Amino acid sequence: DHANIATPEQHAALAGLDRAHLIHPVAPWRRHEERGPTVLSSGHGVWLQDAQGRELLDAFAGLWCVNVGYGQESVVQAAVEQMRRLPYATGYFHFASEPAIRLAAKLVEITPASLTRAYLTLGGSESVDAAVRFIVQYYNNTGRPAKKHFIALERGYHGSSSTGAGLTALPVFHRGFDLPLATQHHIPSPNPYRHESGSDAAALIAASVASLRAKVAQLGAENVAAFFCEPVQGSGGVIVPPRGWLKAMADAARELDILFVVDEVITGFGRTGTMFACDAEGVQPDLMTLAKGLTSGYVPMGATMMSERVYAGIADGAPAGQPIGHGATYSAHPVSAAVALEVIRLYEEGGILANAQRVAARFAAGLAALRSHPLVGDVRCVGLLGALELVSDKASKRGFDPALGLADRLFALGYQHGLVFRSFGDHVLGFAPALTITEAELDVLFVRLCRVLDDALAAPDVRAAMAG
Ligand code: PLP
Repeated sequence: DHANIATPEQHAALAGLDRAHLIHPVAPWRRHEERGPTVLSSGHGVWLQDAQGRELLDAFAGLWCVNVGYGQESVVQAAVEQMRRLPYATGYFHFASEPAIRLAAKLVEITPASLTRAYLTLGGSESVDAAVRFIVQYYNNTGRPAKKHFIALERGYHGSSSTGAGLTALPVFHRGFDLPLATQHHIPSPNPYRHESGSDAAALIAASVASLRAKVAQLGAENVAAFFCEPVQGSGGVIVPPRGWLKAMADAARELDILFVVDEVITGFGRTGTMFACDAEGVQPDLMTLAKGLTSGYVPMGATMMSERVYAGIADGAPAGQPIGHGATYSAHPVSAAVALEVIRLYEEGGILANAQRVAARFAAGLAALRSHPLVGDVRCVGLLGALELVSDKASKRGFDPALGLADRLFALGYQHGLVFRSFGDHVLGFAPALTITEAELDVLFVRLCRVLDDALAAPDVRAAMAG
């Protein structure tokens, strides 16, 4: 599709406008002005084309969100038809649109049975923010106003709203933003590679449960509102806890009388092999946050799911007839809802979830084969979500000096070899291809990835940093 390819002059002009005017999310602003943008212009399936005509295999599904792949015509049609019929209908007061109603019912049908109500948002950050506001309202309305403290995991990511960014525990989201708040606390991440209990799953799970209990005891259970977690920590570096961890944390939260909130913004909609990560362990959360795969990134939308107990606590504790003051102009947007309904249909009837399950073994094998590469310290994988942790010394698990700028260099090598992935910190590479990816495309992914790692290793300064 050559219509999208810019001449060098056109590209330079566009890049100039970007440098001068567009503020990029989660970017080093001044560094970006020097570097300039990578302008993406079209996509089909797992393939992207940039404005200079380079073909890239997108091994990260945009931002782990384009689960149905690019160019799904039926999704485009769903948006066009809804836009033509009624592009906007407020969800405020007592108004609604048909797609919003049907989507809420569909989400209740496919999420764990504990969840009976859906609040439709604009994305993950707003879903987390709404969850926090609803939980505060829940305890105020049910006569336990002291329950205001929130516990989450170190290295967790829960978006960048003004409160959600404090539940997040990644330094760049706190630094200079006066976060976390005094009511936001973090317990150690369940990382088998970095935890002292190592590969002993039972010990790691017990340690996590013990830290939650200890933190609740320290704050006083009467002061603790909720525990938030991702079933697999995504932006923290694709940290996959041992099987049984999520269930153990859910059970502990119930015993401790605090709400259990699962953030399935990444793991939801088939990413880990089941529709939701909760399904793999029969976890019944009190609240669940969703986004990304909900609309596969075609339009913005998220959801905050809640149990009947939380819903009723809020609804029945508020003065009769008084609105619950939370909402946005674009809450329950009909075009987004229509897109979400079609995307969910593709996962189920369209066979996309089944494809993800079918090709997951090839994905796991491709990553596992890289374990013997000199740069690779750890391989993590569940469903079509995976990571490589690079180390300069396999024995001590030592990473790399940030001064090497390895993350940027790996990204540049990926681009050179036609592969897009994500790097976290300086030494974790993340992979989350569209759930439509074929085995042949996975083979291309791993051939290219191998070239990226070999080229990185060939650099004299990287070689010099390696042990031995
Ligand atoms: N929660 C998790 C687990 C996420 O991974 C993200 C985004 O990556 C968010 C929340 C925030 O979602 P959004 O970027 O749509 O605001």
